Amino acid sequence: MKKTVVSGMRPTGRLHLGHYLGVLKNWLKLQDEHPCYFFIADWHALTTEYANTEILKDSVEQIMLDWLAVGLDPEKSTLFLQSQVPEHAELQLLLGMMTPISWLERVPSYKELKQELKDRDLSTYGFLGYPLLQTADVAIYQAELVPVGQDQVAHLELSREIVRRFNHLYGETLKEPQSLLTEEAKVLGTDGRKMSKSYNNSIYLSEDEDSIRKKMMACLTDPARVRRTDPGDPELCPLFSYHKLFSSGDTIDQINEECRSAKIGCVDCKKIACENLLQYLKPIQQKRAELSEKKSLVKAIMEAGSVKAKKIAEANLRKVYQAMGLTN
Ligand code: SF4
Repeated sequence: MKKTVVSGMRPTGRLHLGHYLGVLKNWLKLQDEHPCYFFIADWHALTTEYANTEILKDSVEQIMLDWLAVGLDPEKSTLFLQSQVPEHAELQLLLGMMTPISWLERVPSYKELKQELKDRDLSTYGFLGYPLLQTADVAIYQAELVPVGQDQVAHLELSREIVRRFNHLYGETLKEPQSLLTEEAKVLGTDGRKMSKSYNNSIYLSEDEDSIRKKMMACLTDPARVRRTDPGDPELCPLFSYHKLFSSGDTIDQINEECRSAKIGCVDCKKIACENLLQYLKPIQQKRAELSEKKSLVKAIMEAGSVKAKKIAEANLRKVYQAMGLTN
């Protein structure tokens, strides 16, 4: 059965392999099965990046290019920019009238992120209220399914609670979104930690060949394999995780065997992984290069998506106002 799916991504720069394998591949599948709304969450970026807004405009363009290059299709999905649909903010305001502050303060990431991002002041109204904006983002489209990783289940649970409270106060109006728990592919960065822009260990979808080669050749390997003659353990080697993702089954088996018997050296092994990664990225990069030449088309796709999203959002917001008795 088809269900409305809504999900967003913060514009914090170009997208890397972790975004592609962990999120976008799932979106590609979803757009073939359900009506999907995918948005660039520029207002969400402001909750933590309010003092660094200069990167936002370029990030929005880069992400839209990445989305289209990997195959998100504006014929199948509504691709749009959050701030071009102000109804998200209007619904956030209305939901804010009936949401206890304690509900927002107990969101696990509220305290965690405040601790983590000590270089900025996050004692802001916007940061505290971002779970409300998230709720509005999905409720404004009457979303039924929200793809989430395990770490976001608590957020969605809060959204469901807020929607239930609204419906309890004003009558059944908003749909309670269900989480669509997605098995996120774990993509390691070149230093063996989770791939993340903030760790400076990422390989970007739009990265040029030379730069990818340099990063792959510097990728961490089995730390216990010191000399070429030492046998290695692929399961302890971050580089091997790239073989698992981008090499053929035969190559993976061969590397597995030759690493353990020290028949292959890490330099040669890295070269093979790198070439397979470059082959994998080739069609995405070709499409991205073509789209980069047509910036006005990309902008038009985003604007058309925002107009389409706005129509639905307006209709649902009207129902919200009626339920609250604000219109006759
Ligand atoms: S040979 Fe390959 S799999 Fe083995 S430790 Fe070196 S890089 Fe890792």
